[in-house]
Amino acid sequence: MSIESRLKDSNRVMETKHKFTRNKNMAHKNISGCPYVKKCGGCDMKDEDYKAHLEQKQRMVEQKLKSICKVMPITGMEHPYHYRNKVHAVFAHTKQGIISGVYEEGTHRVVSVEHCRIEDEKADAIIQSIKELAKSFKLKIYNEDTGYGWLRHVLIRRGFSSGEVLVVLVVASPVFPSKKNFLSALLKKHPEITSIVLNVNNRKTSMVLGEREIVIYGKGYIRDTLCGMQFRISPKSFYQVNPVQTEHLYSKAIELAELTGKERIIDAYCGIGTIGLIAGQQAGEVIGIELNEDAVRDAKINAKGNGVTNAGFYQGDAGQFMVQMAKQGEKADVVFMDPPRAGSDEAFLSSVVTLAPKRIVYISCNPETLGRDVKYLIKRGYRIKEAYPFDMFPWSDKHAEVVTVLYKN
Ligand code: SAH
Repeated sequence: MSIESRLKDSNRVMETKHKFTRNKNMAHKNISGCPYVKKCGGCDMKDEDYKAHLEQKQRMVEQKLKSICKVMPITGMEHPYHYRNKVHAVFAHTKQGIISGVYEEGTHRVVSVEHCRIEDEKADAIIQSIKELAKSFKLKIYNEDTGYGWLRHVLIRRGFSSGEVLVVLVVASPVFPSKKNFLSALLKKHPEITSIVLNVNNRKTSMVLGEREIVIYGKGYIRDTLCGMQFRISPKSFYQVNPVQTEHLYSKAIELAELTGKERIIDAYCGIGTIGLIAGQQAGEVIGIELNEDAVRDAKINAKGNGVTNAGFYQGDAGQFMVQMAKQGEKADVVFMDPPRAGSDEAFLSSVVTLAPKRIVYISCNPETLGRDVKYLIKRGYRIKEAYPFDMFPWSDKHAEVVTVLYKN
């Protein structure tokens, strides 16, 4: 089956799911039975049932965009549990011994969490095994106050469709006591682990990851499939944490771009190249721009791996890159933009106006900055019809992801 027909196929599945999601009575779904809910700062919307939760997100997006455009009904999840493909646990040594979990809200006290309802269950099981092994191998747990100890955090990424599992052990020093025996015990318990990376972070910082990475088992990244294409994801590259909803979101974004096979498209803030490579199947040329070096390397390899020859990926600031393109008199037919929460900047937006694409597809994780940036574009020759919200983070986050399209007047 070609990538294009696979994409169409997955669109069809999504359409059916979409209807199902909206029609089903979701009032019974809630997370209030979670034993950690009071202490763990992970979930913002813990007391509500899922239907009320979606309605609240819908109202929030409508409120932020009310003077700008119509907001379509939010796409929620059919099964809003265990959706996170990326799981992070902080380790601590307490009177009860070694614990792993999350920081209590607003503090650096660690709350022990063994089974989280929104995290991938396999990832949670691996973290529990690492905790048990850390006890039996007498590994020293890092103490944030004294700077003494070794193991700080564990980060796990699982490809939901590939089944590949990457374990990142964030440690204070590259010297791994009893490495061989520890690894063989861990792999014996979890043969599903495909790669293990040591990330060395010896600074007193609240940043989880340090600069240095040492691959100690496997290839140092995972692969996953989205909308019928395969992607490689390195530990520091951005990858959406909810792959089920990501397919819905990307499909809507690509549908709104109305590609005919000829367009020159820009994928700005492209991460590992997902949107550009998927959309590129229906376009003439793809130009991707991204700040994170590891993600750009992934994007280039992802193009090759999928046999794509019409895409080029560049590392740099998206705003500066667009300014450069505008100066050189370059043109683009469609711009996809998917900036971080802070939104885009004037350098980027003013250059987009100069490049004058027919359509700008804006994917946003923050309706507030989306509203601000869209207003800028509306004042400069673009118009907008409607916005489509998606619930990417059931329970854990008050934000919704929103995709919209602006047309050149
Ligand atoms: N479109 C991708 C990534 C979106 S997240 C996806 O769907 O997976 C936003 C991305 O913007 C991250 O990869 C981040 O590294 C990148 N980024 C942040 N600031 C940037 C900037 N000034 N210029 C270019 N990319 C930036």
